[in-house]
Amino acid sequence: MIEIKDLHKSYAMGQNALHVLKGINFTVQEGEMVAIMGSSGSGKSTLLNILGMLDVADSGSYTLDNNPIKNLDETKAAIYRNKFLGFVFQSFNLISYKTALENVILPLYYQKVGRKERQERAQKYLEHVGLGPWASHHPNELSGGQKQRVAIARALVSEPKVILADEPTGALDTNTSYELMELLQAINDQGITLLIVTHEEDIARMCKRIVHLRDGVIVEDKKVRQVKAKRDVE
Ligand code: ADP
Ligand code: MG
Repeated sequence: MIEIKDLHKSYAMGQNALHVLKGINFTVQEGEMVAIMGSSGSGKSTLLNILGMLDVADSGSYTLDNNPIKNLDETKAAIYRNKFLGFVFQSFNLISYKTALENVILPLYYQKVGRKERQERAQKYLEHVGLGPWASHHPNELSGGQKQRVAIARALVSEPKVILADEPTGALDTNTSYELMELLQAINDQGITLLIVTHEEDIARMCKRIVHLRDGVIVEDKKVRQVKAKRDVE
């Protein structure tokens, strides 16, 4: 599904360059659930952004579902992003003046899906994340966990093959984090490949594989026995 070879990325820092990714190699098969761990500044977001075609590497190769991702113009990149990828961010990135349903509809609007189908699909995915009754509410009326569920519905609505999540539980308390991981595990069980950046060991353990980044290189890459996230029942 994803294959990267000898990926390098530097940022210009005045006269100097900050070498952030220093030769990353890894392959992700369809259906995997991978945690990307590492301390702050180790290059996790940079890697995820390159995988998400939100940024480009300086050198190395990247293949996504057998398509070489290289020298794509923005139109082509947008087509691949829409077709293959969904994004979830720590800060939810919802539009505050739009309702939950409208936030989920938005990617379909840009993909020129017809009005009726947009509505139906968005409603279906809101229900899928347990938020059917919250469709007409605005983000400021939702809890952090609910906001992240809206963001997940928005990522799912384009029916991507891969979801890239950058610290999706970073702004949530422990119970809410585990509920969210339970949802992400269910999504993975349905066959969607997940890459999740986290610096929390317990969250990483809920994935099937842990890749450890340190100073721009992968220092460890291991399959783990997945811990099932379990909802705390009151
Ligand atoms: P992580 O997500 O693991 O915390 P990042 O990938 O965000 O790490 O950042 C890695 C390093 O690259 C950090 O030192 C950060 O300051 C630097 N960096 C990230 N993005 C940029 C940018 N757009 N311009 C310059 N430096 C950046
Ligand atoms: Mg980061």
